[in-house]
Amino acid sequence: MTGFDLHTHTTFSDGTTSPEDNVADAVALGLEGLGVTDHDTTGGFERARSAADGTDLELVLGTEFSAEHNGWSVHVLGYWIDPGHPPLADELHRLRDERTERARRIVERFNQLDVPITFERVAQLAGDAPIGRPHLAQAVVEVGAAADVREVFDRYLAEGRPAYVEKHAVPPDRAIELLTAAGGVTVLAHPGLFGPLQEGMDAMQVEHMAAAGLAGIEADHPDHTDAQRHGYRDLAVGLGLEITGGSDYHGDAKTNQLGCSTTPRAVVERLRSWVRA
Ligand code: AMP
Ligand code: ZN
Ligand code: FE
Ligand code: FE
Repeated sequence: MTGFDLHTHTTFSDGTTSPEDNVADAVALGLEGLGVTDHDTTGGFERARSAADGTDLELVLGTEFSAEHNGWSVHVLGYWIDPGHPPLADELHRLRDERTERARRIVERFNQLDVPITFERVAQLAGDAPIGRPHLAQAVVEVGAAADVREVFDRYLAEGRPAYVEKHAVPPDRAIELLTAAGGVTVLAHPGLFGPLQEGMDAMQVEHMAAAGLAGIEADHPDHTDAQRHGYRDLAVGLGLEITGGSDYHGDAKTNQLGCSTTPRAVVERLRSWVRA
């Protein structure tokens, strides 16, 4: 397997595998590079770095940053960021608190729907990670209200379903500004998963982000249809942006396999020194 898997999660957010696991599995698959992109945290950087030390695997450390547009989630991948940059670190801190408050509101929704989960158990499942919907889903499966995480999302937690609560997050252009100011290069994650029925982001919305400094579009994502992959590839080409791919691997929390979508080395090299043409 060649190329870079530029989008993976670990136990530092809502994945079920450690940074060491992701690095070892990427090496075993023969990947050239690995992105470690936990939601709204840079907490896994050191562990990933130590694990990759002495291997041929090239790490691309980043975060999958939560933004929102019209109340719907927009995820912006920020690579090569300085984790200590104050405005970014402050917003990441705020997002973590926001996720905790949102989890309390989601637990209340479930309780109103007669699903007896507790905030304490959800917090325990998240451990030190910012709380995400997969942690809530896991708690719901534990009390027997659904067979698996997928069913919890389909019935309750997907955007537009009864236990969905939005995060208060910055708009995408502000997210790009924060990540870029911290030395990062930004890529729009899975634009096809935006909106209530996953109708995807339209060209105007992406164009607005491009004007704010976006460098690439993650057109190759396992949850995109072939039509979406082609559509977002064409959009990237039209806007002079890079086309990337990543698996959005979450261990057992999702069915996505590590390395199922990748980015060629040449694209990673262009991203690393990205300057708008
Ligand atoms: P959050 O950041 O708390 O809104 O949670 C987002 C995460 O939930 C995503 O990264 C996915 O891991 C997971 N997720 C979102 N939608 C679904 C879905 N329909 N099925 C399974 N997992 C999902
Ligand atoms: Zn996730
Ligand atoms: Fe995402
Ligand atoms: Fe992700």
